[in-house]
Amino acid sequence: MRALLRSRYRVPISLRRYSNQLTKDNHNAFISKRKEETNSSGSLAGLKAAVKDNFVTTKEPTTSGSEMLRTYVSPFDATTVSLIEASGAKVVGKTNMDEFGMGSSNTNSAFGSVVNPMFPENHISGGSSGGSAAAVALREADFALGTDTGGSVRLPASYCGVYGFKPTYGRISRWGVIAYAQSLDTVGIFARDLDTVRSVFDVLDVADSKDPTCFDASIRHQISHQKNLQSSKVIGVPEEFVVAEMTEEAKDAWNSALCALVDEGYEIRYISIPTIKKSLSAYYTIATAEAASNLSRYEGVRYGYSISSEETASMTPFDIVSKNRSTAFGSEVQRRIILGNYTLSSDSGNHYLRATHVRKNLVAEFNKVFSMPNVLFDNEVYNRDGCCALLCPTAVSPAPSLAEYTQETNENFLNAYINDILTVPASLAGLPSISIPYYSRQGIQIMGQFGDDETVLKVAKTLSLNCTYN
Ligand code: GLN
Repeated sequence: MRALLRSRYRVPISLRRYSNQLTKDNHNAFISKRKEETNSSGSLAGLKAAVKDNFVTTKEPTTSGSEMLRTYVSPFDATTVSLIEASGAKVVGKTNMDEFGMGSSNTNSAFGSVVNPMFPENHISGGSSGGSAAAVALREADFALGTDTGGSVRLPASYCGVYGFKPTYGRISRWGVIAYAQSLDTVGIFARDLDTVRSVFDVLDVADSKDPTCFDASIRHQISHQKNLQSSKVIGVPEEFVVAEMTEEAKDAWNSALCALVDEGYEIRYISIPTIKKSLSAYYTIATAEAASNLSRYEGVRYGYSISSEETASMTPFDIVSKNRSTAFGSEVQRRIILGNYTLSSDSGNHYLRATHVRKNLVAEFNKVFSMPNVLFDNEVYNRDGCCALLCPTAVSPAPSLAEYTQETNENFLNAYINDILTVPASLAGLPSISIPYYSRQGIQIMGQFGDDETVLKVAKTLSLNCTYN
């Protein structure tokens, strides 16, 4: 890992692929827009919503940022879209994203890169929900829905100076959300203020019988019961999050946030969660394996992009599928399919199994530091005197310029994966986590025990009163 981290800054430049699509006036946040609609009522009445283009909708195509689905129109709406509309929000459009959620810069979309509105020159917006973050930062929407598999809500929120909340895995329905890696995918919320995040979360935080991974009433009840036992005011700072590449700005925001919490009566405790160091490699093993399996359905025969029938006349079925997939999937998606299939093959030497062990150890270590038990475990292993939440920066730095980012990833595609180093641990363990815009270009991340979204929002509220950006 150290070697990977060090390689981050040794790179040549190439902007060939995107430079002609980018101008300062065009942030490219939307893939499709809707016409203004009439008044509504409900708890979200009057709010404009932007929805990442991997939530299926009937009113326009749902592309997931891919050529493969450019013309795909769903026969139904995602549960989350129906819920926000039923509460009075108006969907203004579908937002740009890294293809199938794969990326952390929003430069992997078939519809061009999203430009970060916080900078006068071209900087990345963060991904994969970069369009949603940019739409909110640009005030084109009051809130936006995104998905977070390994950081795709929190990282763009940090880069674009907005709030980005990834609730506990299982809190919000994923019915109608195009899967990337289903043991990690979580619906998240962007907004410019915490009260809006809260209002949208209250609407979405409900059971859905269409999604078997969405908490049923009994788990929700158990969580609120355990929550009542939570009285800790200890904030944990895991030493493994102190990485050499962290910029002074990120460290400064981190220190300042900790001081603000001390002033509010919290105790700060330095802790160790050793398996955090193995999280990035475990995440990319698990996520790519699940992605390879999920993406096998796109072969252009039943649905998805197909080459013309004249071309197929002389081809074998295998060649047709192969041509459809290699034409319509972008290079990052193809790379992950290959990586995921290798991981799942016997040649890999049990990579997948080893990654799931890392994940299990990580969850056990998290359980030992939190003062609230994990609702998924019958044998309660937790620390009564432990932490109510953990805190660290969301990203190691503010958003890099597009030139710098492209330079780094051209040298080694693994450099792009390193941006997720601070966000994937919470994803692997399914923990609730929020990025708050503590400095305008540097988010601070608060993580809580599985199911303890309330504490995360409570600590965020305390910190938001100290934010320099609102
Ligand atoms: N950057 C990570 C990846 O590419 C996370 C993406 C996400 O959360 N959708 O896998």
